Parts: sequence; C-alpha cells; structure tokens
Amino acid sequence: MKKIIIAVDGYSSGGKSTFAKAVAAKLGYIFIDTGAMYRAVTLYAMRRGIADEPAALVAALPDVHIDFRFNPRTGRSDVYLNGENVEAEIRRIDVSNRVSAVSSIPEVRAKLVAMQQEMGRAKGIVMDGRDIGTVVFPDAELKIFMTADPHVRAERRYKELIAKGEQVSMEEIEKNIRERDRQDETREVSPLRRAEDAVMLDNSRMTVEEQMDWIAGQLERFE
Ligand code: C5P
Repeated sequence: MKKIIIAVDGYSSGGKSTFAKAVAAKLGYIFIDTGAMYRAVTLYAMRRGIADEPAALVAALPDVHIDFRFNPRTGRSDVYLNGENVEAEIRRIDVSNRVSAVSSIPEVRAKLVAMQQEMGRAKGIVMDGRDIGTVVFPDAELKIFMTADPHVRAERRYKELIAKGEQVSMEEIEKNIRERDRQDETREVSPLRRAEDAVMLDNSRMTVEEQMDWIAGQLERFE
C-alpha cells in the first residue's frame, strides 16, 4: 500500500487518540496528537500568566518550541515544550478548561498548522485533531470524523483522570466536554466540522478491536 495521510477529527474525549494511535501502529505510520500541541501552548501561556491575554501570547509565540519525542517506556511519543516533557501536565483539567480559548487565536493556529503540514510532508501519518481533514490536510486520502455520545465520552475521561489520581467529579468533566464542544464548533477560525468527504465513525458502543476491523475495511480501497 502506498503511504497516505489519515486525518481523524472529532469531539473531545471521543477516543480519537486511542484509535489513531492503534491505526498508526498497525500501519507503521507516525501518529500525531495535535490536541497535545494546543495544550502545550496553553500550558506555556498559563505559566507566564498570559492565558487571558491573546496579544501577549501572540507576541511570545516565537519563544514557544514544541516537538514530539518517542518514549520507549510507554511506546508512544511525548510532547515537549521548550525541551521539557509536559505530557502529564498538559492533561490536567485546568489546562483543558483553557485550551479552547487559546486555540481560537488565529496566530496560534497558523503556527501549529504550519508545523503539522511539515510533519505530514512525507505522508505515512495519522493525525488527530479538529481541523485536520478541513484545514491542515484538505487533500488527505482518508478522512475520518469520530463521534460518540457526550455521556460516554465524559465517563471515559473520568476514568482516565481518576486512574491518574486527579480529584474530579463526573459533573465537572461533563461540563468541560460540553463547553469545549460548544467552543470548538462555534469559533470563527477553523471550527470543528466534518469535511464533506469524511467517513463517520460513531464509537459509542464499539471496542478498539471493532474499530480496527472497521478501519481495515476502509483501507481496502488503498491496496
Ligand atoms: O484533542 P484534545 O481534546 O486534547 O484537544 C484539546 C483542545 O485543543 C480542543 O478542545 C480544541 O480546542 C483544541 N484543538 C484544536 N484543533 C486541533 C486539535 C485540538 O483547536 N487540531
């Protein structure tokens, strides 16, 4: 099979990363979690106390360096902010509460989209996010739009955070997910929407194995 670009878009906590990572592993492709990049910029802004000051953040953008480095312990890539591994910190709920606002700043998007396009130049990549099939790679060979029931998504996120020892309630998580959906769908720059040529995958009641069977069917046409 010749190398292609697989774009995976959809709502928060819809299992995009789990799915995209499994697909990349199966094909020997690179997996890029673009949400981690927006989260890293948000963390940078929070540490500098400028998360609510778009102009100051835009001025500071040249000082923000993001890259991914493979972690042999977990078998996946971690995101680095100015040389520091911030993989754990960017998943905190206070970062989740601010990331949609930061990611609605056009200059932040322009910087990260350019980096993402560069990462996909050689193809052989599975990228997950909100605007991958619409803005980053409008010509991607395979576009997938994932959805899942908001309650199912909140339950997944809750279990994940509790397992990491975070003190959170289901109400708080559900509120955060619904609010992020709303902000991601209504922002002016690159709102979350399904590309016309994207195939839908509702994984509310699907196991990862079932999703892998589904993708195998989708990939047949590239053989
Ligand atoms: O995927 P994840 O939930 O970690 O993404 C965090 C946030 O980053 C999203 O809620 C969204 O606001 C933003 N994002 C984005 N465009 C992307 C990926 C993520 O705006 N391609």
